[in-house]
Amino acid sequence: MTTDSFELGPIRPPSEAYSLLIRATRNCPWNRCKFCHVYKGKKFELRPVEEIKQEILAVKAIQDKLKEIAKKSGYGERMEEVALAILNNPLNEASFNVALWLYHGGESAFLQDANTLIMRTPELVEVIKFLKQTLPSITRVTSYGRSKTASKKKLEEFIELRKAGLSRLHIGLESGYDPLLKYMDKGVTAAEHVKGGKNIVKSGISLCEYVLLGLGGKKMWREHATETAKVLNQINSDFIRVRTLTVKAGMPLYEEVKNGNFIRATDEEIIEEEKLLIENLDCQSNFISDHITNLLQELEGRLPQDKEKMLATIAKFQSLSPEEKRNFKLGRRLGIYDGLDDLDNSLKHDGVERAIQKLQQDGKQVDEELICSLMERFI
Ligand code: SF4
Repeated sequence: MTTDSFELGPIRPPSEAYSLLIRATRNCPWNRCKFCHVYKGKKFELRPVEEIKQEILAVKAIQDKLKEIAKKSGYGERMEEVALAILNNPLNEASFNVALWLYHGGESAFLQDANTLIMRTPELVEVIKFLKQTLPSITRVTSYGRSKTASKKKLEEFIELRKAGLSRLHIGLESGYDPLLKYMDKGVTAAEHVKGGKNIVKSGISLCEYVLLGLGGKKMWREHATETAKVLNQINSDFIRVRTLTVKAGMPLYEEVKNGNFIRATDEEIIEEEKLLIENLDCQSNFISDHITNLLQELEGRLPQDKEKMLATIAKFQSLSPEEKRNFKLGRRLGIYDGLDDLDNSLKHDGVERAIQKLQQDGKQVDEELICSLMERFI
């Protein structure tokens, strides 16, 4: 029986903010990465294809209801006004997601949770085809996948998935340095990253590889940067997206930090690591920093042509005085600054200075501990 609700998983990439969310599997089948808290304590489950189809039919039922309301309200085929009204007063999370998706054109869908590729290829193909048949406005279907699982799939399977309608895969590469991958219990090697990634690229599915800046800590930052660049150069994915390591309770890495086994790099050190990464990249990828955890969110461009421009942005940060670096770091972590140019905005700059003075009056310093605790709010 079709209902007017469906299940939603906990996360999706920022670039899928307006996508319809279909929970194809529940949680993460690996769930061991030390730096990840998202699915800890939750059991992985494959969902029967029929169950996923019922969820897609539930989306259609909500969509049909909204269409009917639009017609009755005199909007005809125009859904935006009704979608907006639902967004302001949603019945539940599912209707909010459908309204948001429709408001933004109804073209993209994202298959949740952490590793949809673990589904048998014929079943995943069936789900994607059903999704596109049932909701024909969808022209773009994307999902998360693990590199390890990707490395086990054949090129022909990816081609089949692309033909069924899978447009893009988001993969957490994190690092290309084997000792670090092992320490973090990522469950994949650099060679497997390359194998899986190359097959995805070859199949014509767009690939987005996520790199975790700061993952090497103080000990392995240099190798993390250079070896990650080597892996990315071989894969040559459409997108390289960076995030910055943030450690919080619930992650196994939190205990490692507490007992001194893992020493986090400072913001300045992470920027040096990012510089080394970019210097060593020799690929044709879009480099994107679209995450609030990144100190320099403006660090974006098309490689190789924009490399010098990106390195100039890094040089601009590195040439700031210690006081201005402190001001910028706090301004970023308080969500006041979007980029380095905001330092010239006296209203914002003075606001951050006042925050620094207030902290000092309260006996606190703008140190790494404070920066790390502010960053915890972002994930
Ligand atoms: S594979 Fe992804 S979702 Fe699973 S534990 Fe690792 S980082 Fe988290």
